[in-house]
Amino acid sequence: MLSVAEAQRLVLSNARPMISDGDAGLHYQLNHVLAEDIVSDIDSPPFDKAMVDGFALRSADVGTNPATLKVTQEILAGQFSTTVVERGEAASIMTGAPLPPGADAVVMHEVTERHGEMVNIPGPIKPRQNIMAAGSEMKHGETVLTRGQRLGPVELGILASVGRATVQCHQLPSVAILSTGDELVEPGLPLAPGQIRNSNASLLYGLVQQAYAEPQYLGIACDTIDSLKPLIEAGLQDDVLLITGGVSAGKVDLVPEVLQQLGVNPIFHKVALKPGKPLFFGTLGTKLIFGLPGNPVSGLVNFHLFVMPALRKLMGWDEPHLPAVMQATLTTEFQHKSDRPTYFPVKLSLLEGHWQATPLKWKGSGDLRTLSEATTFAIFPVGEVRYAAGSSIEVLVPHSFS
Ligand code: AMP
Ligand code: MG
Repeated sequence: MLSVAEAQRLVLSNARPMISDGDAGLHYQLNHVLAEDIVSDIDSPPFDKAMVDGFALRSADVGTNPATLKVTQEILAGQFSTTVVERGEAASIMTGAPLPPGADAVVMHEVTERHGEMVNIPGPIKPRQNIMAAGSEMKHGETVLTRGQRLGPVELGILASVGRATVQCHQLPSVAILSTGDELVEPGLPLAPGQIRNSNASLLYGLVQQAYAEPQYLGIACDTIDSLKPLIEAGLQDDVLLITGGVSAGKVDLVPEVLQQLGVNPIFHKVALKPGKPLFFGTLGTKLIFGLPGNPVSGLVNFHLFVMPALRKLMGWDEPHLPAVMQATLTTEFQHKSDRPTYFPVKLSLLEGHWQATPLKWKGSGDLRTLSEATTFAIFPVGEVRYAAGSSIEVLVPHSFS
């Protein structure tokens, strides 16, 4: 059976960064990834700028003792003064206003005393104090953001500062979500005997949003070819299709067969891991299709190991796309036996700067409830192992950390 690493390599080698058509660029939004370097069209600030409300003056006019200066002008933000501040003079100035010629320092309003035309300034004054120098934030022609950078709130602000309304960036993939199973009922509807609620659609919708992609929910297909076919066909319109259920060895696990009928190229089916072994992965042109097992935690593990990395690559993220692994210390004894590498939910806590992992009382792949206490998954290797408390184990770096 394919190893996790081999399956991840196959998924990533079939995922290509999505780029907008043409050179017009996209109206960007939060979480898009830049496909071009961004260069400043201005010096910022464009002029020496007062950083406080107060008085602009010549620092040499004020020694260690207070000096009294004559206020000869007032400059508000948005105004530009060409009147020189001469020796013995000061200009009343507001935060953000350009420094007038002659002045080389600004004194805060709060430490001064105004008497009519005159103002008392306590000394000493350092040259350039309370001034942001022209071009100190960025220079015209300087690269301020680089290709591969994800646009967070700060980057949105910087793009506005350099006057960019559109940029070349990678698109956010649309991700169709389809639940399958005769037993499924949407939340809010009554449950008949033998039926269960469709938790996977909500789980996957949230995971796709958390990964910054755009989920589209398609509903529930029954376990028949006639029900599956039109819904899967609809899902193949999107960049990525996530189907849950119907990929195992059961009598009505028809998803791989229907995908094949619709022209999907199967890349692999089954991976050596627990939970999540029945995973199917295929492609149709540039589209990626994941058949996730129906058990919610199996799908969750598969999402973190295979779907999330693929989405990151499609969105143009710099490497690494795979979740990172770190060491943590077991807080309790733990026994484990499996013929496949196992991803086991643990709660992380910090003790004197070191991560501690506590395995949860988890009932297996159908138990989603316990996962709400989990921070991440520990990775246990094949075999029968008895870990003493204090052993060092591997855990996935939680998504929320990256
Ligand atoms: P399957 O992969 O279709 O054989 O389903 C495996 C298990 O997951 C079965 O117990 C299903 O009832 C359950 N299951 C399948 N789909 C969902 C879903 N959308 N939400 C919750 N449980 C599901
Ligand atoms: Mg099923």
